[in-house]
Amino acid sequence: MPLGVAVGLAGCWVLFALIVREPALDSPGFATVWPAGGVAALWFLLRAARPLSIDTALLAAAAVGVNMVLGADPPLNGVFTVTNVAQTLFAAWLLRRWCPGLWGCGGDRPLDRPRMLPRFGTALAVASAAGALLGTAGAALVTGQPDVMAGVLFFGRNLVSALIVVTLGIVLGHWLSRPRPRPSLLHDATVVELVAATVFTGAMYGLAFAFDALPLVFPLLGATVWFGLRFSTVVGAAHSFAVGVATQTLTMTGVGPFAAVERSDVGSLLAEFYIATIVVTGLALSTGRDERQALAVELRRTQQEAVYQVSIREAVIGSMTEGLFVLDDTGELLVHNAAAAEIFGLPVAGLTWQELATRSGRWVDGVPMSEAERPSVRALTGEAVHDAELLVKRGDGTDGVVSVSAIPLPRDQLRGRSRALVLFRDISTEHARREELATFAGVVAHDLRNPLAAIDGWTEMLADELDAHTLTPDLTREFVSRVQSSSRRMHQLIRDLLAHATSGQRDLEVGQVDIAELVGEVAAARHAELQVSVEPVPPVLADPVLMRQVLDNLVGNALKYVAPGVEPQVTVRGCRSDTRMVTVNVADNGIGIPPGEQERIFEEFHRAHERDYEGSGLGLAIVRRIIARHDGTIVVRPNPTGQGSVFEFTLPAYD
Ligand code: ADP
Repeated sequence: MPLGVAVGLAGCWVLFALIVREPALDSPGFATVWPAGGVAALWFLLRAARPLSIDTALLAAAAVGVNMVLGADPPLNGVFTVTNVAQTLFAAWLLRRWCPGLWGCGGDRPLDRPRMLPRFGTALAVASAAGALLGTAGAALVTGQPDVMAGVLFFGRNLVSALIVVTLGIVLGHWLSRPRPRPSLLHDATVVELVAATVFTGAMYGLAFAFDALPLVFPLLGATVWFGLRFSTVVGAAHSFAVGVATQTLTMTGVGPFAAVERSDVGSLLAEFYIATIVVTGLALSTGRDERQALAVELRRTQQEAVYQVSIREAVIGSMTEGLFVLDDTGELLVHNAAAAEIFGLPVAGLTWQELATRSGRWVDGVPMSEAERPSVRALTGEAVHDAELLVKRGDGTDGVVSVSAIPLPRDQLRGRSRALVLFRDISTEHARREELATFAGVVAHDLRNPLAAIDGWTEMLADELDAHTLTPDLTREFVSRVQSSSRRMHQLIRDLLAHATSGQRDLEVGQVDIAELVGEVAAARHAELQVSVEPVPPVLADPVLMRQVLDNLVGNALKYVAPGVEPQVTVRGCRSDTRMVTVNVADNGIGIPPGEQERIFEEFHRAHERDYEGSGLGLAIVRRIIARHDGTIVVRPNPTGQGSVFEFTLPAYD
């Protein structure tokens, strides 16, 4: 706090000390410094003044001056000055020590909780008592006669003075330190109510002090209650300050119920206790109300925060594609998301743990799972389970595979239950792919091993014949031709495997493709122009490289799968099937597809005529994949001419 303000407060101190120097009391001069004691305490508090400081010097000088004006002789002046300064330093020191969080005492909290009051009041009371003791003892030394009553009065006045001035100073100072817009001084009340409460206070005090023969002090508390409950703490403290000053001033000037008491010093003491009572009552009411309101605001904020957190949590778990549920050891589902129900093909509402458990009772290899092996049950006993694969029976009766992780959650202390978080995802497609890959690898290994074994066998025989010197040119030719045939088969398989792998990976580069022209090229490459006839086909939007692969496979099969001695005849034609697609037919006069095989020949490695025709069983799988990547379909049916088959596929038309 700037020095200017300190000087101002020192001026106030002098002013107060002089204003009330007129008391009709016959007690020593130090009793008159009221409410200057409170002003000094506030000044030292806000400035955090130290014993050796300009503030102490200023206060001491002011006290000496005032005491001189009041006519105290030098020894008494010394006692009063030391008492004033010491008590002020002590009060400020105690407050800063005992209420460090309070605004003005080193902290930034307002005086807004009743539990702060005892420390606050005790600090002021202890300082006032110390001052009274020091002053009384000093005066007794100087005058030679101890005046206990004067000491008690001094204690009361300084305490009351400190209570009303320091309280007002702290609550007002805190309010002024708040950023604008500051909270309303009226609190919940209106200006009209403030005027009414002020008029009520004036009327009540007027009555009580005018008719001092009647004990009308008790209704005065009504005014304090009104201000304490309805207006801000600042206004309440200002009210206590005003009525305190009025009460003490009137009592000192001989007006009112306290002055009517026979002994003026006893009357003055009663007035002091009355003022202390109203200050503390007013403060207790307003701080109690502030604390309740702060708690209510905090509660509302906590509730809003909780609602917000719940909404976030629901949004997060609701948007997850993984299934999630939280289970407790009674088998109750505490939380679950929509995906949990969807993965099981069940309705979201009314989902139960029992239902999920009965639908997921087997490991992925079909082995039944015991209750204790269940990932969720294990997590409830404290064990974390990661990526366990389970079979599930979906709501529509189909089977699926899920990967489950279950994690133990902290125990629900409130209800004494263990809880577990279970997360799972549908890996049916992934699992099927994995199985497919395993089969694929198995077949590839098998199909490569066969020709290799043949090569081994024939070369071994060749070596044996050579050793036995029985190798003839005809035999050599025979062996070499067998080895060549096996190696051809391996080549073909490897080529088809590569084609199969790339048919799914390669990025589509679509453009206008003339199917008839491609068929012509394929036929020419196979030297089969005479066996393949092609009619014009509307242009299609496709990847030319992949299309060539499709036609090469289909035309190649049509030329290959013919009965011995039959001259193959392949016809390719096409037309617009609808506004978007073109249908292409590849018809042959071959051996046809056995009934029941029409679908299966499109699967990897499936061969309908294994014995007499070479092949890998991959060609049609490649064809179907490429057509599907072009959003088309392919089917096969018997040739309506009665012999052979017709492969019919669709492709997007090029416009
Ligand atoms: P591959 O010809 O290498 O055996 P494909 O996937 O091309 O493999 O064909 C799968 C099976 O479909 C063939 O083994 C054969 O049994 C049957 N097939 C394919 N095309 C024809 C056709 N035009 N006529 C009769 N059967 C066919």
